[in-house]
Amino acid sequence: MAKPPRNNYLLVVFDSCRYDTFVSARPKNIKRLGPIERRWSYASWTAPSHFNLLTGLMPHVSPKRVYASEYYKTDFLKFNERLGGGGIEFKSLVPALYLPPFLKEQLGYRTHARVSLPVLNPHTILNFGFDSYKLMPDHNDFKAILREVKYSEEAPSFYLLNVGETHYPYALANEPKDTWPTLSGVHGVFKHLDEASSSGKPRRGIFNASKMEELRQRQIQAIKFLDTAIEEIFDTAPKNTYLTVTSDHGELFGEDGYFGHGPIQHPKVLEVPFVEGKIR
Ligand SMILES: [Zn+2]
Repeated sequence: MAKPPRNNYLLVVFDSCRYDTFVSARPKNIKRLGPIERRWSYASWTAPSHFNLLTGLMPHVSPKRVYASEYYKTDFLKFNERLGGGGIEFKSLVPALYLPPFLKEQLGYRTHARVSLPVLNPHTILNFGFDSYKLMPDHNDFKAILREVKYSEEAPSFYLLNVGETHYPYALANEPKDTWPTLSGVHGVFKHLDEASSSGKPRRGIFNASKMEELRQRQIQAIKFLDTAIEEIFDTAPKNTYLTVTSDHGELFGEDGYFGHGPIQHPKVLEVPFVEGKIR
């Protein structure tokens, strides 16, 4: 029998955060939610991965001898725990197969997104069924995002929080831009869109091993910072708040000649951390 949901639900996505850097950072606050699981993203870059998350499918556990439809059904039942309700199943999302309008229209949620990466901006197709959806002015300011999270007394709240400190250049908001690392040829998707090399082929990067290790260490430091900052959610959120912390995809730090994520076929670009639980 259907039971109305009563939990606030926060889906926190550390953009580009690798599973193993997350483990190395020993995030003690986030671990209060539950064990760190090693899971797999359905996509290797930001936009399709967030679309998938917003269909309600969290990063998967890659089970053997299981049909996909069975896995989706079982995975989706977890929303009964996340939302503190009952009777929610994958077919509840038919036909739109999208979580925000389902939460808003069927379950009475206030739905919000605060995103850090411009490829997720409010003009994209992802912005569907949200009461509010905002691209943050800076790509790397989780504390500014947290200041935007407000809980309604009349209805439960859903927030998608896309967090950019873990994205290249793995810089914190208070770190002066002129000290950020630079990799020649690495730019945001929107920059240099109309440039092409004269050969018609992408320019090749130079992936120096010590530079790659420096960047990996910077991602670890970014996670440590976020783990401290997230304490604010534990301190301020109502008790009936459920939190999922995960990543949209991993990141390559020089393995097999790769850097970053996106057009890369490598296990480390899909391997992501996954932790969730109710705030206690
Ligand atoms: Zn991403």
